[in-house]
Amino acid sequence: MFKVNDNYLKLPGSYLFSTIGRKVREYKAANPEKEVISLGIGDVTQPLAPAIIEALHGAVDEMADAATFKGYAPDLGYEFLRNAIAKNDYADRGCEIAADEIFVSDGAKCDSGNIQEIFSIENKIAVCDPVYPVYVDTNAMAGRTGTYHTATGMWSDVIYMPCTAENHFTPELPKETPDIIYLCFPNNPTGATITKDQLQVWVDYANKVGAVIIYDAAYEAYISEENVPHSIYECVGARTCAIELKSFSKNAGFTGTRLGYTVVPKDLKSGDVMLHSLWARRHGTKYNGAPYIIQKAGEAVYSEAGKEQLKAQVGYYMNNAKTIKEGLQSMGYTVSGGVNAPYIWLKTPEKMTSWEFFDLLLEKANVVGTPGSGFGPSGEGYFRLTAFGTYENTVAALERIRNL
Ligand SMILES: *Cc1c(COP(=O)(O)O)cnc(C)c1O
Repeated sequence: MFKVNDNYLKLPGSYLFSTIGRKVREYKAANPEKEVISLGIGDVTQPLAPAIIEALHGAVDEMADAATFKGYAPDLGYEFLRNAIAKNDYADRGCEIAADEIFVSDGAKCDSGNIQEIFSIENKIAVCDPVYPVYVDTNAMAGRTGTYHTATGMWSDVIYMPCTAENHFTPELPKETPDIIYLCFPNNPTGATITKDQLQVWVDYANKVGAVIIYDAAYEAYISEENVPHSIYECVGARTCAIELKSFSKNAGFTGTRLGYTVVPKDLKSGDVMLHSLWARRHGTKYNGAPYIIQKAGEAVYSEAGKEQLKAQVGYYMNNAKTIKEGLQSMGYTVSGGVNAPYIWLKTPEKMTSWEFFDLLLEKANVVGTPGSGFGPSGEGYFRLTAFGTYENTVAALERIRNL
């Protein structure tokens, strides 16, 4: 008789966004005349930039001709894309990352979930609280997180690093020593970020205790301030302790087309085993590559036209962020984020819980956001709004919140 992976049975109830989806569906069914605006799930709304569309069309035509047709992609991804990444995202920023340390994939969610596979089940993970749920849940599925306590919303074998107003939503070094540290800056959900000096402290710490940092830089393109690192490899010593995850979803609108990459430097070792070899082995065995067409589209992200168009696109969303942040501030809300990230993190008024505020906003303003408590216990009493809507909807949503 077969048995299931009962680690899955330890996972807490429904996924945050399914619960939100259900509540919104039920509200709409009961109130069909109401028009609901979503500033909830972190998905983009602007179309792909013209340079990307042009590259897509060109690549589709190549697939129609036997002379230019492409089958399986090379294991690590096409060289034209890895070279463009190595130059633009690393060399141009003074980071030493070679093209063969870059693994192209179909997105950072899969990579952030799969990367734990190359580590021992005995490793202990440390995560920010609140956190992007993928890091914790995928470790739970692998059996690395102990048991889940419903009352506290915490796993017994996970080190939680609270990110609160007191520490400006950046974690302090944990008291208990972890083996794997997940960091994401600019952060989802808080929109907070970290200075280069602060990140250097983490790199030094990881090198000292022999931990690996999994650095999720999905929102790097939204950085507007000077002293904020675009890559962890801007820090001295990161090549021996850090893996970096990047996505084309938020900087270039690839949430539906799917493209990302993971950097594993060859200096990152456990004894004499390179993590690079393990990830290469996993990639080669379990993955057959992002589509050629999409990798060509990814290359266009780094063209002069692509860069210019995407700067405007990110600017569009960041104007929404500014509108939300300043609007809420003028209404007396306590807000953070929204400067180097497309997320606004607000404190719920009058000590409401995150879900109470969610219900109020849905029912009285017909605006959907994301309850902070869904990202971890320290998110209780907070609420996330995203800048990924249209400008018109963003302005309309704020007007409704103002009239609450
Ligand atoms: C959106 C997001 C990603 C990107 O996921 P993709 O699979 O590349 O679309 C990764 N990490 C965080 C924290 C995100 O919010």
